[in-house]
Amino acid sequence: MDKTILVVEDDPSIIRLLKVALKTNGYNALVVEKGVEGIASFLSQKPDLILLDLGLPDIDGMEVLQQVRAISSVPIIIVSARGRENEKVEALDNGADDYVTKPFNIGELMARIRVALRKHPQIKNEEVFVCKDLKVDFEKYQITLNGEPVHFTPNEFKILKLLIEHRGKVLTHKFIQENVWGYQSEDVYQSLRVYMAALRRKIEKDTSNPEYIITEVGIGYRFVEGD
Ligand code: CA
Repeated sequence: MDKTILVVEDDPSIIRLLKVALKTNGYNALVVEKGVEGIASFLSQKPDLILLDLGLPDIDGMEVLQQVRAISSVPIIIVSARGRENEKVEALDNGADDYVTKPFNIGELMARIRVALRKHPQIKNEEVFVCKDLKVDFEKYQITLNGEPVHFTPNEFKILKLLIEHRGKVLTHKFIQENVWGYQSEDVYQSLRVYMAALRRKIEKDTSNPEYIITEVGIGYRFVEGD
């Protein structure tokens, strides 16, 4: 059965674009223009994913996000014109799976939807991860690049594992700090940057043009989707 995507969006040109693109990609699109309608439609229609605008005519999209997230883990992708980094971070920290900034590339949005729908349920238990020249063996606690062993610290391994488990999705600095160190602080943030730089020197051919770990400026990091 086709997946249903709830679009909460008030911009007519974006609605037209999304309706066509979603239909072309085999999804059922359900469109509402207000936040309260979005929450009501979510409850009554049980969509598989929500595309959520932040600037809505009634309540703020962030409130829609919080209300839905309080009761459901349905994938939610923020589609926002605001593009302010602190809002993206806030949305991700409030449980959004991803965000795109208007004007967005429709192909990229469809890719993000596929990632969010997949949610990688298999990753938690996978023993060996391979992406291009990089191989991470979670069972044996080994990293190799082109077959050569990579030496790493426990925190570098934890960071890499976390990114791979959530690959394709942007992880905020806060999320990484809380999952690797157990809390966030300015010192931990600085440590994260240092570990990330070290990790990249070990696995990236060109650290200024990374193949594996992408920097989301001011927000966090994303491991490439890799398939
Ligand atoms: Ca809007």
